[in-house]
Amino acid sequence: MEKETEKKETVIRWVVGIIIVICLIGAIFFKKMQEEQPVGVSEGTLEIHYIDVGQADATLVLTSNKSILIDTGRMDVEDAVINYMRSKNVQRLDYLIITHFDRDHFGEAEDILEKVEVGTIVMPRQEITSIEHQRLVDLIATKEEINVLYANDIVGKELDGLDELSIKILAPLESFYEESNNYSIVSMVTYGENKFLFTGDLEDETTICKTYTDAFLSCDAYKVGHHGSKNSSGTEMLLKIKPKIAIISCGENNDHNHPHKDLLDRLNSIKGLDIYRTDENGTIVIISNGTECTVKTEK
Ligand SMILES: [Zn+2]
Repeated sequence: MEKETEKKETVIRWVVGIIIVICLIGAIFFKKMQEEQPVGVSEGTLEIHYIDVGQADATLVLTSNKSILIDTGRMDVEDAVINYMRSKNVQRLDYLIITHFDRDHFGEAEDILEKVEVGTIVMPRQEITSIEHQRLVDLIATKEEINVLYANDIVGKELDGLDELSIKILAPLESFYEESNNYSIVSMVTYGENKFLFTGDLEDETTICKTYTDAFLSCDAYKVGHHGSKNSSGTEMLLKIKPKIAIISCGENNDHNHPHKDLLDRLNSIKGLDIYRTDENGTIVIISNGTECTVKTEK
């Protein structure tokens, strides 16, 4: 009798053990599937979505298996960026790049960290200047699963693990700036032969122009710095980058008069440049096959 009970117990132990192993394998497989879940972009294609978030910035960079968000829009429009990501079936961000800590750039960052799985955050090492910035830093500290990279430490390097997509960090080049805007992460997204430049709200472009060659900075599409302010995207910078497409992210009838007339004049003086504006065109999507870019606009 005792022997039979022992036998039964051994069988139960085996069954429970096997169930646990199956569950573990299932969980690992499910996680892997989630990580590799396609986002609706076909293979061999890059999509860059310059999301219309009013007077703010939020750009979603997508390939068939990688998702990167550069800036997170404003604070006063609830879940605008999250809803846009969901509409594109983006469940996870490999990278969240916060160019600098002005509210129109890290607006939805807290909500994104709570609602979307994020692999790595890239941000500048910048002094804390607002309650919201402090709150975000505190939240990031609680998220042990998220890798944190300070852009200052990886200038000149590419972000890891993006397969055929390359994102190189070009700035901030100095450790202290008077102006918050000048902490902006500058990055070059490269896909095949196509190049896309992002400069956040950078105003002082002198160091960038001195550090990098014309060939390196030349790009197909340029997200115009600082929402098209008067002094950003100076002539020296534009002559170096020679963009074919310019995208201005700004709100309709915004208080800053962005884009400024002087900036528009500078852009219009570039031969063959196509200019798009989120206040007029809504969300703007550039699709690249690695050699050619096509542009689609919401309106
Ligand atoms: Zn801004």
